Amino acid sequence: MSIRKVFAVAVATLLLAGGLASGSSASAAQRLKISDCYSPLNLKRPLRPQTRYIILHTTEGDLEGSLCKVRRYGEAHYLIAPSGEVYRIIDRRRIATHAGRSMWEGRSTLDDFSVGIEVVGFYDRDITTAQYTALRELLRQLKSLYRVKDEKILTHSMVAYGRPNRFHSKKHRGRKRCGMIFAHPEVRRRLGLSAGPTHDPDVAAGRLIVADQELHGFLYQEATVLAASAVSGLQKSLSIRRSGDSMVIEKGINAWRIAREKYDDSDTVYVYPDGTRFRGNEIREWSNMPVGTKVLFLDDCREREQEFEGFLEIGKDGSSARELAGDLYADRTTIYFFPDGLIRTGEELTSTASLRRLLNSPPKGTRLLVGYVYGGYVQKERAASRIAGKTWNFPSTFYRLPDGRIVSGDGIDDRAIPARTLVFMMK
Ligand SMILES: [Zn+2]
Repeated sequence: MSIRKVFAVAVATLLLAGGLASGSSASAAQRLKISDCYSPLNLKRPLRPQTRYIILHTTEGDLEGSLCKVRRYGEAHYLIAPSGEVYRIIDRRRIATHAGRSMWEGRSTLDDFSVGIEVVGFYDRDITTAQYTALRELLRQLKSLYRVKDEKILTHSMVAYGRPNRFHSKKHRGRKRCGMIFAHPEVRRRLGLSAGPTHDPDVAAGRLIVADQELHGFLYQEATVLAASAVSGLQKSLSIRRSGDSMVIEKGINAWRIAREKYDDSDTVYVYPDGTRFRGNEIREWSNMPVGTKVLFLDDCREREQEFEGFLEIGKDGSSARELAGDLYADRTTIYFFPDGLIRTGEELTSTASLRRLLNSPPKGTRLLVGYVYGGYVQKERAASRIAGKTWNFPSTFYRLPDGRIVSGDGIDDRAIPARTLVFMMK
């Protein structure tokens, strides 16, 4: 089925920045056709204050499904089809929500600092020749436009990080393998990139630990991994064993390695070798899952990239405040939303004995925002944009409406925010 028909792609194909094309690259620039296929969220997205990085992704799915999802949620600036055709999803000057929970060089929420490119393909498979040509030219233009060096062209797998969970007690790298093929020296060379990051700055600084050693070795080209990783053999050396539509638990391949953050989701199904089936949310004992257990995903839709540091929940992400917020659990930048509607900062919760009890054992369902500040009430003479400045409509800004609902900046209309709505924005 034609993508054009489905999405009524604008007929005009435009060059990204025709004026930049010169000399020997002019012909390549002319060959780079970008079709407008804007997300319905495009005009709602704020302008990006800075551009320091370009982040590369693989869609882990076919063109039709990937384009549909990326466009619906505004999850990339560009998407590159196997044919080499490039779709413009979000205006490159605006924020696309492609990096989710991410960190690089101590900066988090990289959506605010980066251009995101989705390449239709898989993290462990080579891309098409037409995609190489298109991506190389797109990168050339963006690098020149934003003065981004080759070392700042990153993969989603480099920058994504995971919250502590039962498999990894600390914040960790390895939440995703997305785009990892773009760390391979041979692939980078074909994309006209002469350098890449040589190490993980956030692991080096102790902000994160490594949870996927194999991924880490691949990204930073440790000799042993590299020796076994000719691009053509990638799939063999890095993939998890599949059996039909499912993936299989083996020695060294646990539920987290297969399902990552969906390991305890109700849409993740475990079929034990004896045929019994459990949903991820029904399993209590994770340490002795039998080898040969098959893992299936009911929700066919790939995990959304847009996952902010956002809310953490007691009972879901961990059982204590310390587990969720680490050393910041009693800080004024950790905000607690109790199930009964009470909202307090960690610092406020240390003020009386009864509040301290709440802090020490918050009830199940209590939600936390870590690294946030409380902006107070929206009022007639105190608009959201006055409180939160340019971040008022960022997806990372949250509003608590008088009826108790919580809405992100992405989904709120500045003119229709009820009085007595509270604002919380990232510090
Ligand atoms: Zn990605």
